[in-house]
Amino acid sequence: MVWPHKVHVIGAGIAGLSFAVALAQMAKARGHGELSPSQLRIDEAAHGPSSDGAGIQLGPNVVRLLQDQLGLKDVLNTLGFAPKGVSLLNMRSGKRLARLSLDDFEARYGARYLTIHRAALQAALLTRVQKNGHSVNWSRPFAGTSEKPELLVGADGKHSVCRTLHFEHQSQAHKPFYTGQVALRSVLTSLDEVPEPQRHDITVWTGPRHHLVGYPMVMPVEGSTTLYYNLVGFIDGQDINTEEAGWSCLASTQQVNLLLQALHPSLHWIQAAAEAWSSWPLWASPTLESADDHYRNHVFLIGDSAHAMRPHQAQGSAMAIEDACALARHLTYSSGSLDERCQQAAKERWRRNARVQRQSARNGRIFQLTGPVAWFRDRALQLAGHKLMDQPWLFGGPTES
Ligand SMILES: Cc1cc2nc3c(=O)[nH]c(=O)nc-3n(C[C@H](O)[C@H](O)[C@H](O)COP(=O)(O)OP(=O)(O)OC[C@H]3O[C@@H](n4cnc5c(N)ncnc54)[C@H](O)[C@@H]3O)c2cc1C
Repeated sequence: MVWPHKVHVIGAGIAGLSFAVALAQMAKARGHGELSPSQLRIDEAAHGPSSDGAGIQLGPNVVRLLQDQLGLKDVLNTLGFAPKGVSLLNMRSGKRLARLSLDDFEARYGARYLTIHRAALQAALLTRVQKNGHSVNWSRPFAGTSEKPELLVGADGKHSVCRTLHFEHQSQAHKPFYTGQVALRSVLTSLDEVPEPQRHDITVWTGPRHHLVGYPMVMPVEGSTTLYYNLVGFIDGQDINTEEAGWSCLASTQQVNLLLQALHPSLHWIQAAAEAWSSWPLWASPTLESADDHYRNHVFLIGDSAHAMRPHQAQGSAMAIEDACALARHLTYSSGSLDERCQQAAKERWRRNARVQRQSARNGRIFQLTGPVAWFRDRALQLAGHKLMDQPWLFGGPTES
């Protein structure tokens, strides 16, 4: 049976490309054959694939989807790095507060916990889109249309035009806001300077009103791969002009000093090895309140366009990919009208996304506590940190409905 719908995807970031791959592959598996360009159209404002960003973490919840539903198992084997654990350390004392071993994650959650270069993942998804016979219409910024497609999938990121046009006229509440936090990023092009325990782990160093995250990631270089070390720091209370900011912006000396102030001597290698720091303002969307925040009247928002979140649970891309797979599955496998199937997908997604949004904000606060409460945090983490860091509801999901 021929696929009876026309779907227009806005944005070829991780959310839009994942959805395009999932829909094409699931429609084929369901016996609809290859989707034509008019059945699946992808418009992107940028002139070509973006090389922005550096590493991202991928929990087993999303590695499972990338392997089993999006066909990226080989890519993850080559371009994914599997850390042995997640360690929490205090930046000032240098002491380890807690460590969660990731060694048994594959046995417990059906997939490994990986890190990957963001642009490499995006390139792999794009290759998959092309293998499925589709292409991205680059340099095609969406600004609204008079002929509305049967389904508009808004995957156009935190400043989504799809959301502004179709969701915000009823309420201002959905507008994303600048969090006052800035991420500072530096990439070390080898692991030579990185001490032994950090070479194998994802490490989070807590500090007062700032914290730092570091991990190895595989970097594709001229047909081969090498290991880089990704460092991202977060500083609070930054009153900046967000219009001018982007990963190409260098962080100011004042910002870098704020991040690396009072490092314990055992961490001086960070100061010595990290040269250029770029900066990126962090935006977040208000927490989703109902399925209507994902889907209204033939417009479905996925990824950051629906729920941009602080990156302190490292799950923004993961939730985008989970949205993409859930929507594609309901469109191809569920029964009912197109509208009903979209409603089912929105119902399935919104609570989990809202919970991850809340958890991400909470983690950011916990990592940056000051004064006596920071002491209590450290004690609690030393006693039960590995249990608090392991989150079966997140890593074992998503649950299908
Ligand atoms: C510092 C930092 C660290 C992070 N770490 C992690 C991590 O470890 N793990 C994780 O899972 N996530 C992480 N994230 C979050 C993750 O990067 C995002 O959640 C994810 O990339 C969102 O993907 P998206 O496709 O929804 O949006 P985007 O990546 O923003 O893509 C949107 C696309 O839409 C296009 N577009 C915009 N407007 C239009 C228009 N009008 N017409 C057409 N196209 C348009 C854009 O050009 C872009 O290509 C991190 C984020 C930050 C900032």
